[in-house]
Amino acid sequence: MKVAVLAESSADARAIRRLCSRVLNREISPPDGGDFEATSWPGISKVVAAALVRSWDTPTTNGLVIQVDGNGSPIHRIKDCPGDPCRICKFRRLIQVSLQKVKTRPRNTRLEIVVGVAYPAIESWLNVDRQPDSSEQRLAELDGSHMVAIKRRLKVEMYGTESPTLEEMSRGMMARVEGIDLRRIEMRHPIGFGELRSGLNGWTMFDP
Ligand SMILES: [Zn+2]
Repeated sequence: MKVAVLAESSADARAIRRLCSRVLNREISPPDGGDFEATSWPGISKVVAAALVRSWDTPTTNGLVIQVDGNGSPIHRIKDCPGDPCRICKFRRLIQVSLQKVKTRPRNTRLEIVVGVAYPAIESWLNVDRQPDSSEQRLAELDGSHMVAIKRRLKVEMYGTESPTLEEMSRGMMARVEGIDLRRIEMRHPIGFGELRSGLNGWTMFDP
């Protein structure tokens, strides 16, 4: 099963791949062309469009997972979300627009696409037992700058520094991802993680 991951670093992509494997309860491997990296937020539209088109044009790729940090952006609202600057709404629009431009896929091949946004950062999912005050319910009461401050605190708690190296991040995340209670993440992050989990659970490629 080949699934491409678009994340903000190779460390994030590795942790997300493992987290998705745990949700799906099966191994997923990278696609032939490798994963995608969203290194700069203003340029994300182009990266998402390119990832989608390349994944679509590679019939051996079964799925695409798009996962980024929310940082200080507002948490998506299930009902009446204002859209911009919500990142989940932005991705949904980008996917819709990009899919209008692609050619037909070969018969019997599907590309499943799922989006996840970690508020304020992926460390809040992987730190869920230690940082209960970074739940979405709590974050929704804060402004963007306070959310970013919580992101910094989460990094210090997990890596011992606000600016970890890629290796430190990968080691720290992989140490947590195996044992983390997925139900607990969803309880505290029903929007950002809930969107990812329900999307993955809806993937039909695994149907008999
Ligand atoms: Zn939204």
